[in-house]
Amino acid sequence: MKTSVIKMVVLMALLSLFVSCNDVKKDDFKVWAWLAGRTTMSEEQLDYYFSEAARAGIDAIILECHGARPEVIGDSASFRDDAAILILKKAAVYAKKYDIELHAWMWTTNRAELSLRKAHPEWYQVNAQGESCADIKLYNREHYRFLCPTRPEVTEYLKERVKEIATVEGLTGIHMDFIRYPDAILPYRLQESRGVVQDRVYPLWDFCYCDVCRAAFKEQTGVDPMEIADPTSDEEWMQFRYDRMSEMASAIAAEIKACGKVASSAVFASPYESKKLVRQDWANFRNHDYIFPMIYHKFYFEEDEWVETATREGVEALRAAGNDAVLCSGLFVGHVPADRIEEFIGYTENGGSAGICFFSMEEMEKREGYVDSLRIVLEKIRLSD
Ligand SMILES: [Zn+2]
Repeated sequence: MKTSVIKMVVLMALLSLFVSCNDVKKDDFKVWAWLAGRTTMSEEQLDYYFSEAARAGIDAIILECHGARPEVIGDSASFRDDAAILILKKAAVYAKKYDIELHAWMWTTNRAELSLRKAHPEWYQVNAQGESCADIKLYNREHYRFLCPTRPEVTEYLKERVKEIATVEGLTGIHMDFIRYPDAILPYRLQESRGVVQDRVYPLWDFCYCDVCRAAFKEQTGVDPMEIADPTSDEEWMQFRYDRMSEMASAIAAEIKACGKVASSAVFASPYESKKLVRQDWANFRNHDYIFPMIYHKFYFEEDEWVETATREGVEALRAAGNDAVLCSGLFVGHVPADRIEEFIGYTENGGSAGICFFSMEEMEKREGYVDSLRIVLEKIRLSD
């Protein structure tokens, strides 16, 4: 009698485990999309994008609120990002209307506001030639101005911006983009279009050699990084830079969480490429709920199946680092044909991704029938779960 009761209890426990596993899988398959935001977006445009997201079956929109051309420009002593707040407030109405989560997509180290460039040019990163990206147009891009993660004032500045946007009612999360160094090497396919040859790391694109970083590294090792003949092969100097960025990402994410919001970051495609191209060791970004590797495979000259490989490498790197952030693979709509969406979702799922994030809503809308294809695929997947 006693044995049969035990057997029954074990059976019920196993059954509940099985049921809850299924529930978890269903709930966990979350679909996201990035969407550019502008203060000039009309109510009709916002209504359209959010209604389209709802029609497709997208659960969450990550809305850009500090873009390449920040809309509050000037030399005001106040750095409050009023444009970001306005963009989010307007969008929150439609996120609520269509029952979609709204996450604020914030540019992080790459801050182009003129007010800041004017007030604190010393906060900007310096390359191995001693040039500040506050002064030079890196890759001929006006907006490529990256802040130094080693300076505590920079982290404080960004935490202030987080606190401001976190006050917007209806906001679920804050999402960090450009949480990295400038491209020491551009993703391979982009080099041609930008007219650069990067067969190795060149000093022009190798950051951060500002005074604070040099002094901190010298204190730690006795070496001035400017004196290192081959900086890329110097493990200590590479690690120093990885760690400073990870510390900053972790500190800002902690602030996001302290504001009661979901914390996430967009990062480069795989742990290996992220470290190599932009000194971003995102497996060690702490206090994150989600990490979105942007697996835009064609920019890396990779085959479609690499989406699965890169996803798996990311999941394994997080696990190895003892990081419990959930990985969600980001896909580039232009690299994922409408009639193969299901196949690509399969790659991410096989690799261990807990969902999928599309770049972007606008790119979907440019392609006739894309939203319809996505809707059909998502209905099918969700019914089968
Ligand atoms: Zn620095």
